Amino acid sequence: MKRVYNFSAGPSCLPVEVLQKAADEMVSYGDSGMSVMEMSHRSSYFKDILAEAKSLYKELMNVPDNYEILFLQGGASTQFAMVPLNLLSKSNKADFMVTGSWAKKAYQESARYGEAKVIASSEDKTFSYIPKVDSKDFTPDADFFHICVNNTIYGSRFRPDNLPDTGDVPLVGDMSSNILSEVYDVSKFGLIYAGAQKNMGPAGVTAVIIRKDLIGHAKDITPTMLNYKIHADNDSCYNTPPCYGIYICKLVYEWVKAKGGVAAMEKINKEKAKKLYDFIDNSKLFTAPVVPEDRSIMNVTFVTGSDELDALFVKESKKAGMENLKGHRSIGGMRASIYNAMPMAGIDTLIDFMTKFEKENA
Ligand code: PMP
Repeated sequence: MKRVYNFSAGPSCLPVEVLQKAADEMVSYGDSGMSVMEMSHRSSYFKDILAEAKSLYKELMNVPDNYEILFLQGGASTQFAMVPLNLLSKSNKADFMVTGSWAKKAYQESARYGEAKVIASSEDKTFSYIPKVDSKDFTPDADFFHICVNNTIYGSRFRPDNLPDTGDVPLVGDMSSNILSEVYDVSKFGLIYAGAQKNMGPAGVTAVIIRKDLIGHAKDITPTMLNYKIHADNDSCYNTPPCYGIYICKLVYEWVKAKGGVAAMEKINKEKAKKLYDFIDNSKLFTAPVVPEDRSIMNVTFVTGSDELDALFVKESKKAGMENLKGHRSIGGMRASIYNAMPMAGIDTLIDFMTKFEKENA
């Protein structure tokens, strides 16, 4: 069986053990005599899968009891609308930090439904840092304050100890590309959302962790399917949920738990990222554009400084068994997405290849 090192930003590599377990259970799940893809979402089999997924996610993320977990559809992009439709309930104002393209999209979508204010942006330096902010600049009566915790395209992140202190204003975090990668204190957030397709499962599932008091205040115009209350009241089964995707998420949660949980993931993720950044920082050819203190440990961006060499790197790395190292089409260069399922051997293979490439091209 051929497996490559897949550095895709998402959908991205999943643990082989998870894929194998899914393969084993593909045709008949347990004693059900049918695939999870074929079973009713109202069946006891699926109800158990959903309950187990929820409980494992709660445990892994250390979610306090006053939060609800929802498994929704529509990707993180739907949350860009769902968050303002549900949370803009008092002042109709929200604050945003624009630290990348996804953060900007969230801001632009919110501006359709209420007053949206950019508190800080790092666009002046191609989103290569997380701006320092002063809470004096925050809107005191904002209904929420939105950040994109990990900026997938540019490769920066808000460290867990560097989240803006928004006081009583609920902090909303897009954690699509760093969910389950490092320990964040959920109680610092009012709401966390994440598209599953990077670190949690397949595309099609969006996991939302929302503080219970933020549920039930949706604007009248909110479509039923975009109302958190509808999904909370129906335990994510108001309509047919993304059943198979939720099942794969459950397998990923079991895998993370077996590895020692998010803290254990964080330890190995930091080792992986450090090894790669250290190599880049000592290289004569490659540079990492993001300032060291704000670097993502999930998406490592780097460049050679020459578009031709970048293109050659992407082409040659593919031949060497590494896929999807091309940077996002909006910024070029290279990006190695090194999610939980990327083993250290993948990092070592990449560094060996970069060493060789540098010798030949520096
Ligand atoms: N937010 C972040 C941080 C992302 O990386 C992405 C996808 N790359 C999105 C939002 C959009 O996600 P989706 O495609 O699930 O709508």
